[in-house]
Amino acid sequence: MSITLDQITKRYQGSPVVNDVSLEVTEGEFYVLLGPSGSGKSTLLRSIAGLTGIDHGRIALHGNDVTRVSARQRGVGLVFQNYALFRHMTVGENIEFALRVRHVKAAERRARRRELLRLVALEGMDDRLPTQLSGGQQQRVAVARALAHKPPVLLLDEPFGALDAKIREELRRTIRQVQRELNITTVLVTHDQEEAFALADRIGVMNLGRLLESGKPDELYARPATRFVATFLGAAN
Ligand code: ADP
Ligand code: MG
Repeated sequence: MSITLDQITKRYQGSPVVNDVSLEVTEGEFYVLLGPSGSGKSTLLRSIAGLTGIDHGRIALHGNDVTRVSARQRGVGLVFQNYALFRHMTVGENIEFALRVRHVKAAERRARRRELLRLVALEGMDDRLPTQLSGGQQQRVAVARALAHKPPVLLLDEPFGALDAKIREELRRTIRQVQRELNITTVLVTHDQEEAFALADRIGVMNLGRLLESGKPDELYARPATRFVATFLGAAN
């Protein structure tokens, strides 16, 4: 399902933190929003989800205008950096809960639960408690939970958080596999350009609320059109 953003502006106390952003993410695309802290990435992602109202512009999912549709009805899958699991519930129960909230019938839930755990490479972990999982495994559960109701779109806000390098790498691979297998349109937010380049079909670079450039990773790297992007991408290379 495609995502269309048309001249999105969001202001806090009068100043735009997202400023006139237009973007089309195509069906099945893995799009990464990359930019320094405070550039408006999370605000833009929350706007797509419907968690933050916008002051100007239009948002469409699969061509349908959802600008005034509630977060719940938009039904996108969301994963945040520290998107806490219910700590007193097992992995299976955490997913079960998400399925029940979305009114998935009891008969279907069992099979769906198994399928979701397979998808995020956590087979057999049904009965574990979150505290018995690594940070990376917990995020996998969060991904499974976000996908429980078969959302049209998956939004990930800095999902690798404070995970160490090896676990990040594994989680990255899982997220990419899941995305390919489901062919789910995905937008991931990060300030980490290495992450962006490892994952993205296309990268959009944000600074000060503006989407400066959008392009395939190699094109963006080889031919940045703005000084900011050249410097930002050059800095760690
Ligand atoms: P990023 O995710 O790129 O770090 P954010 O979207 O979180 O950026 O924030 C962009 C700007 O908007 C920041 O200056 C932040 O302080 C401000 N901001 C974000 N949320 C709010 C809010 N609820 N109220 C006021 N200012 C906010
Ligand atoms: Mg953020």
